[in-house]
This record gives sequence, structure tokens and C-alpha cells, in this order.
Amino acid sequence: MRCGSRWSGCRVRSRSTSLAISTPTVPKYGIHKLYLTSTQEHFYFQCPCCSRWTELTWPDCVEIIGESVNDPRCKESFLKCKECKHKLEHADKPLFLAGGQWKATESNVSPEESRGFYINQLYSSTVTPGELVTAYHRGLGDEAANTEFIAANWACRSSAWVPR
Ligand SMILES: [Zn+2]
Ligand SMILES: [Zn+2]
Repeated sequence: MRCGSRWSGCRVRSRSTSLAISTPTVPKYGIHKLYLTSTQEHFYFQCPCCSRWTELTWPDCVEIIGESVNDPRCKESFLKCKECKHKLEHADKPLFLAGGQWKATESNVSPEESRGFYINQLYSSTVTPGELVTAYHRGLGDEAANTEFIAANWACRSSAWVPR
């Protein structure tokens, strides 16, 4: 797939699977510590435009539009691929995330020892980029956007915990 100069030139192949990530039901207390001694897996996906493997990070992947909380243009904010800078449609998340994979960012820990997973709000199919940007203007910025879903240790015992 070539990376065109305009988003309209990009095609998303439709898939039947979809991404489902739920709020953690485990207490957050202590989880972060466990996470740091785990494989620290992040969720990578292939950009539907440039086909590069990438992840959604704040603020690189958010085009912030609007100057303040009350600026109606906030809702025009959008997600973008940090590799090719093209827009990633919020509504298409289930499509382009469906083929994604967890990849370890800490290579010194083996998956048999402890698997840990990290994900942030940018992956949410319910929180829009406009809502993230509004929170950012409220001064909750990085904190709001980076609300993490960290799972550690327990996840390795449940093979059912996959993002699809
Ligand atoms: Zn592109
Ligand atoms: Zn891209």
C-alpha cells in the first residue's frame, strides 16, 4: 500500500474482527511496579495509510485544534499516524486496530516470567480525539490523555486476554 499525499487516497480494508478493551477490574495499586518488571508490551498496529507498524502516543499522534475548552473547533481535533502524519479516522479504529499486536518493549524479561500490557486513551473507541483535546485544555492534558490501562502478571495466566 502506497502512502498518498492525501488521506482520501488511503484505503482501509474492512475486517470482521474488532477491538475490545475494557476498563481494568483489578486495582491499580501496585500494578505499575509489577508492570516495570514485566515485558512491558505496547499495542502496535499497521497504519492503514503508510503500512508502517506504529502505536498511538500523546501528543505525537494528536492534531490539536482549538485554543481553549470553549473553542468549538476542539472537536475537529484528530488522530494521526506519527510516521506519515496522515489522519487516522476515529471511526475506523476497529478496522486498523484489529490486525494489531502486542509487542514487548523490555527485552530483558521473558514472557514466561511476567507479561505486562500498556494501553492509553488514544486507543479508546469511545473517547474521541476532541474529548481528549478538551481535557488537555482543561489542564488535565497529558494526564487525561495518558490514562493508562496497565495490566501486569495476572494477564499471562489468562490466554483469553487478547485485544480482539
Ligand atoms: Zn500516510
Ligand atoms: Zn502512516
